[in-house]
Amino acid sequence: MSEKVFDYDVVIIGSGAGGGTIAKELSPLCQKGLKVALLEWGGSFEKKHNTRNEIEMATRYYFEHGGLQTKQNDLTLAFAKAVGGTTTVYTGTSLKASASVLNRWAVPGIDLDDLNPRYEKYIQENGVHLNSPEEINENNQLFYKACKKLGYKVEQFPVNTRGCQGLGTCNLGCAVHAKQGTAAVQIPAAKKNGVDVFPFCKVEKIKDHDVLVTVSAPCFDQEPSSLAPGVYCFRASKIVLAAGALFSPILLEKSFGNRKWPALGRYFTCHPALILTGEHQRPITNFVGHPKSYYCDEFTESHRFVLETCMYFPFTLAKNICGFGEELDDLMKHYAHLQMILVLAIDEARAENRVRLGRNGMPKVFYHFSESTIQSFVKAIQESARIFFAAGVRRVHAPAMDQFFIFPFEQKKIDSLITREHFKLGKISITAAHLMGGCRMGEDPRVSVTNSWGRVHGLNHVFVADASLFPKAVEINPYLTIMALADRVAEGIKKELEGK
Ligand SMILES: Cc1cc2nc3c(=O)[nH]c(=O)nc-3n(C[C@H](O)[C@H](O)[C@H](O)COP(=O)(O)OP(=O)(O)OC[C@H]3O[C@@H](n4cnc5c(N)ncnc54)[C@H](O)[C@@H]3O)c2cc1C
Repeated sequence: MSEKVFDYDVVIIGSGAGGGTIAKELSPLCQKGLKVALLEWGGSFEKKHNTRNEIEMATRYYFEHGGLQTKQNDLTLAFAKAVGGTTTVYTGTSLKASASVLNRWAVPGIDLDDLNPRYEKYIQENGVHLNSPEEINENNQLFYKACKKLGYKVEQFPVNTRGCQGLGTCNLGCAVHAKQGTAAVQIPAAKKNGVDVFPFCKVEKIKDHDVLVTVSAPCFDQEPSSLAPGVYCFRASKIVLAAGALFSPILLEKSFGNRKWPALGRYFTCHPALILTGEHQRPITNFVGHPKSYYCDEFTESHRFVLETCMYFPFTLAKNICGFGEELDDLMKHYAHLQMILVLAIDEARAENRVRLGRNGMPKVFYHFSESTIQSFVKAIQESARIFFAAGVRRVHAPAMDQFFIFPFEQKKIDSLITREHFKLGKISITAAHLMGGCRMGEDPRVSVTNSWGRVHGLNHVFVADASLFPKAVEINPYLTIMALADRVAEGIKKELEGK
């Protein structure tokens, strides 16, 4: 072997919600003489790198500019490549999984008794709190009032910002670094304790205990890796995959084939989402202030969807509108008048929805919308239209209709205007930002890839610690649960390394 070899006790691949957490949790071991490395494909972002220009930032932070297409071409997936992973572009809403979700997961040992102390730790570390009423903009207030008027359950999102200036561009990375993602909190703590962090370090393959990587140079003025561009080998007694729900499964497939684990890459879920808009007569405060303050879970159990407030940038919004030409122009001209709702469908974990290794070495995602997810969307669009009208909009743009807008005088006809018949996959823009599953936890190797401590079945030294562990959808924004599971994986590894 010609590449330079580095010896470590633990090598962690990927530095997002899972990888950043496990690096911090294992970092006290460095003070006892053990060596831990955190390898990350992307680079570190400083405040000066954030221009808040939508296209530029989407290109810098996201894989495929935030629009990786599934094989079926009817769904795009958004996730980031950076030190801090997708937590660099998340909105920072911080929720725990419910007891009923964890019951549905049915993984021995994973329940609120186990996860609650872990959740509480990160709620403290990340400064999770409720924004005060004066920090909540009209886009959010109007949603809250309309849900109340209709008698729907509506809750405020706890968020994890410190020093938020209400720029509203959280999903383009935060220009003032107010969000408390792993790049802001856990990775600096890990570094301080002695973890070696290697940006621009793409893991190509694992070969037994060797992690083979390519180090590249930055594309713009980011801090380069401490290693010169080239190929290297990190030899480790324990390897933790935290490359996210698309890359962890394909790294296992690339390294060990897919025969060992029938469930590898399968049971992929993603909370497929729609962005919906209602237009007010007057400008409202929408693109300033934290974009996401409330959610409505009235329909979680009955119709399998959650509604959240949101605010998207002009390009993202325009590409999510169903239609072209004058009506689209007209809607976009009224950007400052728009109220927005994000629909998250709660999709079932199905074996045929899967991530596979593509010929180019990248993930290929096969995702079929089930009839029940489509039914959830149709009901969610109808309910969102009711919420917009209850908020006082002058017109609603809804996909799954023959016409571009619905007007207040048509409110009584919402259910006959927005129908299943009009919901055409491939014509409606559906996106997903909560990528889950592919290395699901469980005790039965026929339907899971790791045990309930994240250890890959049949490989004593390889662990997974990211969203790919989720056996089914988490049914709400996932990052805190990813951190809680990574914390559990770290606990198991620590005990082994300390010989307990
Ligand atoms: C726009 C947006 C908004 C969101 N908002 C919220 C929110 O408000 N609340 C919430 O709970 N969740 C939110 N999420 C979801 C949340 O950010 C993700 O679920 C979470 O970050 C996933 O964590 P992870 O560790 O699984 O993967 P990631 O955070 O994606 O980290 C994986 C890392 O691995 C790296 N990697 C991949 N392959 C390799 C390789 N071969 N070698 C080295 N490194 C590799 C990647 O570059 C990446 O940095 C949002 C997501 C998006 C896209």
